[in-house]
Amino acid sequence: MERSTIVRVHEGLHARPATRFVKLAKSFESEVEIIKNGKSASAKSAVKLMLLAVKENDEVTIRTKGADEIEAVEALVGYLENPLAGLAEEQVPAEPDTAAAAGMTLKVEPAKPAAFEEEIAGALKGVAASEGYAVGAAFAHFPPEIKPERRTLSVGDINAELARFADAVEAVQARMNASLASDTLSANDRGIIAALRDIAADDELRDEVVATINTGSDAVTSVISAAARIAAQFGQVDDPYLNARADDVQAVGRQICLALLGQADVSLDDIPEGAILIAEDIGAWDLARAPLKRIGGIVCGHGGATSHIAIIARAHGIPAVLGMGAQVHELRLAREIALDGHRGHVIANPEGAVLDRFRARIDEAAREREALKVFKDATPRRADGTVIEVAANIGSLEEIDAARDAGAMGVGLFRTELLFMRHMHLPSEDMQAETYAALAKAFAPYPVIVRTLDIGGDKPISGIEFPQEENPFLGWRGIRMCLDRPDIFKPQLRALLRAAVHGNVKVMLPMVADVAEVRATRALIETCKAELAAESVAFGEFQLGVMIETPAAVLIAPALAREVAFFSIGTNDLTQYIMAADRLNPTVAKLNDVTNVAVMSAIEMTARAGVAAGIMVGMCGEAAGRPDLIPEFLRMGLTELSMSPASIQRAKKRIAELSA
Ligand code: PEP
Ligand code: MG
Repeated sequence: MERSTIVRVHEGLHARPATRFVKLAKSFESEVEIIKNGKSASAKSAVKLMLLAVKENDEVTIRTKGADEIEAVEALVGYLENPLAGLAEEQVPAEPDTAAAAGMTLKVEPAKPAAFEEEIAGALKGVAASEGYAVGAAFAHFPPEIKPERRTLSVGDINAELARFADAVEAVQARMNASLASDTLSANDRGIIAALRDIAADDELRDEVVATINTGSDAVTSVISAAARIAAQFGQVDDPYLNARADDVQAVGRQICLALLGQADVSLDDIPEGAILIAEDIGAWDLARAPLKRIGGIVCGHGGATSHIAIIARAHGIPAVLGMGAQVHELRLAREIALDGHRGHVIANPEGAVLDRFRARIDEAAREREALKVFKDATPRRADGTVIEVAANIGSLEEIDAARDAGAMGVGLFRTELLFMRHMHLPSEDMQAETYAALAKAFAPYPVIVRTLDIGGDKPISGIEFPQEENPFLGWRGIRMCLDRPDIFKPQLRALLRAAVHGNVKVMLPMVADVAEVRATRALIETCKAELAAESVAFGEFQLGVMIETPAAVLIAPALAREVAFFSIGTNDLTQYIMAADRLNPTVAKLNDVTNVAVMSAIEMTARAGVAAGIMVGMCGEAAGRPDLIPEFLRMGLTELSMSPASIQRAKKRIAELSA
């Protein structure tokens, strides 16, 4: 029995939909195959299915063979054509979002310049991924490689080896199920562990291991080779989401091997209080279960400022230096580590003056944290009584608690890029609406300013094809790309309109250089409203603002101010464009200075235009959190400053001092 159809599953057949599809396929006795572009895979294996990389609007054929082949074909084609039918009552697990974003370079604000101005001899340098200082005992987490046993089995031993393998898989699944039962897991971690458990149960892995054992190879060797082969397949797919599944398969293979060998994994459970975790990488499985409260700092060979580890570290206030590369191995034998998460420096076995300075910094930071607490709930005002909103820059829902604990008066910049980078597919309108609504609810009645997608040619994401560009920073990024791709932009605008029902949502556009871009966006918003109204979907109104981060926007600020409700000055980009100095290029770092008179003049011109038009002028670039510059910004007329949560109380204090 065979039928072809067009896939209407928005996310394509990956993770959650793949699990559902496989579950449905397994409920039939018949063999079920799914065929795309002449390539076929068993529909009863989530791994095989994911490797087929079926996307929305792909044409596929379902082929069934067996007693219930007609029912099977109907049910599976029915699911592909109408995936939401019958789902309402189903308990949907949180979607895993393991390390899909790891290693991608999204430009985030660099951590603030350190209090250590001078270089420390022998310091190793990595990516400053989560600010703060730490000194602690080194806890090296380099799980030993498991070597193939390469035993040759006699025919008589094969059945016993198959049984051993089946027991090991069962033990791993049981352990994962036990972890899932813990009520301390976040929805996100639960999704990650559930995905790993499903890989452990998957036919693709099991069938290959069983086939290899049947040729006389021992179970450990068979698992290692099967996991490596499947991981390599995931690694070759041109898609970051699927690439990250390679690590998942290897992690599951490792767990099965450990169970076969009767060995315990090197676990993070034993990490001593305040120790610095040193690792090549921390897999999603380890991170989901790590005792984060005890970890004093993190140093990793892999990872960047937007990797999963960085987000978790920042959300828990753990200083972290990532992306150390091979240098991390130099730290394996260290007794003690000093870590500067502001500058991305790591020192092994610090002694004497260096150690004293670190300890002094840590004490000072602790004292400052304590003293600043009184400002958490303060409402900072200018001398004339005008409230200055001190808000947070965040990029994921995981960071909400850190922002609220710091006393954020709303969110001044919600970077939506991460939402798009974490998954293989573009996030659906529903998923975005849920995310923005959760954000708005968390901060209501304070505003949350959501920035529309600001992605550019130097940062590919799944689902959007970018042209090769000579100068990506001057290319197809931000609002330029969004206006060219209403298929991406409209779902985001519709999601924002829907979320506006739940709180105080404001929306701002990145990289604006022309009034026409604002008008085109407004027209698109009106279209979205008309469509939502026609579909009887509830929506609210939001204020529309622009980021001022191109020289053009500064020069046309008076005209822009007539079009929008607020400005938010993006000093990170504004500085690089005004100074013509690439923000990622260390060679021109000296020019990339917000305090340069050219940049400060541009900020002042912007503020003057905004104030004259009576609209709010805020700032969400890194400079907004600098106590030394805050007096200048207030003098210019800015009434909103948005910054990383760690800077909020210090900024509130500075404003209080000015009006005292
Ligand atoms: C900026 O450019 O100042 C800004 C806040 O945006 P991003 O750093 O995300 O480009
Ligand atoms: Mg910017």
